[in-house]
Amino acid sequence: MAKLTIREVDLRGKRVLVRVDYNVPIEEKDGQMVVTDVTRIRETLPTIEALIAQGASLILAAHLGRPKGKRDATMTLAPVAAKLGELLGRPVHFANDCVGPEVESAATALKQGEVLLLENVRFHAEEEANDPAFAERLARVADAYVNDAFGSAHRAHASTEGVARVIARRGGLCVAGLLMDRELRFLGDELEDPARPFVVILGGAKVSDKITVIDRLLEKADTILVGGAMAYTFRLAQGRRIGKSLVEPERVEVAKAALAKAAERKVQFLLPMDDVIAVPVPTDKLDKKGRPVVDYQNLRVNATPDCPDDAAGYDIGPATVGAYAAVVAKARTILWNGPMGLFEDKRFAEGTFAVARAVAQATQAGAKSIIGGGDSVKALNKAGLGAQVTFMSTGGGASLEFLEGAVLPGVAALADQACCCGGH
Ligand code: AMP
Repeated sequence: MAKLTIREVDLRGKRVLVRVDYNVPIEEKDGQMVVTDVTRIRETLPTIEALIAQGASLILAAHLGRPKGKRDATMTLAPVAAKLGELLGRPVHFANDCVGPEVESAATALKQGEVLLLENVRFHAEEEANDPAFAERLARVADAYVNDAFGSAHRAHASTEGVARVIARRGGLCVAGLLMDRELRFLGDELEDPARPFVVILGGAKVSDKITVIDRLLEKADTILVGGAMAYTFRLAQGRRIGKSLVEPERVEVAKAALAKAAERKVQFLLPMDDVIAVPVPTDKLDKKGRPVVDYQNLRVNATPDCPDDAAGYDIGPATVGAYAAVVAKARTILWNGPMGLFEDKRFAEGTFAVARAVAQATQAGAKSIIGGGDSVKALNKAGLGAQVTFMSTGGGASLEFLEGAVLPGVAALADQACCCGGH
C-alpha cells in the first residue's frame, strides 16, 4: 500500500526526526575533511525545504561509512553539516552525538525552520543492532519521523526502523520524504502495471544476486536482455563453452529453470550472441585498493556463443549491442539493473555505454526508463546520460530487494496512505 508522505501531513510546529542518506565520499584536503560528491546531500533538499516551509524544526540523522560502533574522526558528519548549510543557504547546527542530554537540549532549543544534523548514528553499536533502548533515546527529541533514506531502508536499524516504531506507538506521525516517495513510486507502482512492451535489462557479475529479481520479472516483462558476467552462467546452462569467464557453475540449474520459465511464459529472453574477449594474464602488481592487477591480452570480438578456453568474456559484442538497442528502441517501459561488462575498464565499457545511449534515446522517444541503482547508475553518469532517463534509484541493495518484492523494514514502519494514525 502507498505510504503517507510529507505532502499529505502538516508538521507545523513539530520537531521532526528526518532519516537521510548522507553516506557521502569524504577526503582530507589541506588538513580539512571535505565532501567530494554532494549528490546525496542535494537529493534531500526538496524534503528539507518542504519541511522548513511547513514550519517544522528538523533533526537530521544519518550514517557515514562503517565505524563499527565506535567514534572515528574520519567518519564524522561535521563536514556534511557545513556543506548542507551551503546548499540550503541557511545555517545548519551540528550535534557532537546522536543521543544524550546535549542533543536533547540542542533539539529543544530549535526554532521553527531551524535544522540540526546529528553525529553519525553508527558511532553507537546499538544502531545496527536496532537496540530498543537506543531507539527510545533517539526518539526522545522528536514528535514525528520522516524517512528519506531509501538506500538504508532494507536494514532494520534503530534510526531506520526502531525509532519509527517508538514514535508511532506514541501517536506521532511517521511518513515518507519526497525522495523516498519517488523511489517507491518508480520502483514499485510504476512497474506494477507497466506500459508495454516492458523491457528489462539485467547485467552484473552474478546470477545468484539477481535470480529472485529475474524470477519476479519473468512474471511481468515482455523481454529480458541479459549481459555482464551473469550471461556466462546461462551460456553454461545451454551447454556452451565459457573459457575463463566469470561464472557460477553451481547456479546452472537455477539458470536452466529461469530459461524454462521464460519459454513457458513466452517471455523473450535474450543472451549475448557475441562478446569482447581477452586472455587474462595475472601480473604481480596491485591496484590502489590492493587488488591484483590483470593484464588483458589479445583483445577481440568473439562472434560465436562459445569462448576459447584460454580467454574470458568482458563485454557484450557489437552484434549484441545492435540487437539489444533494437529491442530497447521499441520499449515503452525499461528497467535496467547491472552493467553489460567490466565497464570500469574503458576497453570493456562500450557495451554498457551503448545500452545507456539506447535507453536515453528510447526515453526521448517517450519510453519510461527506470534505472535500478548501483553500477548501472554509475555507468549512466560516466556516460554523461544520467539526466536523460526517467528515474535513477539512489539505492543499491535496497533497490534490488525492493524489486524482488521484499518488504523493506524502513518502509514498513511508515504510515499507510489510507490511514493517518501514525502507522499502527
Ligand atoms: P553487480 O554488482 O552484480 O551488478 O556487478 C557489477 C560488477 O560486475 C561490475 O563491477 C562489473 O565490472 C562486473 N562485471 C560485469 N560483467 C563482467 C564480466 N563479463 N567479467 C567480469 N566482471 C564483470
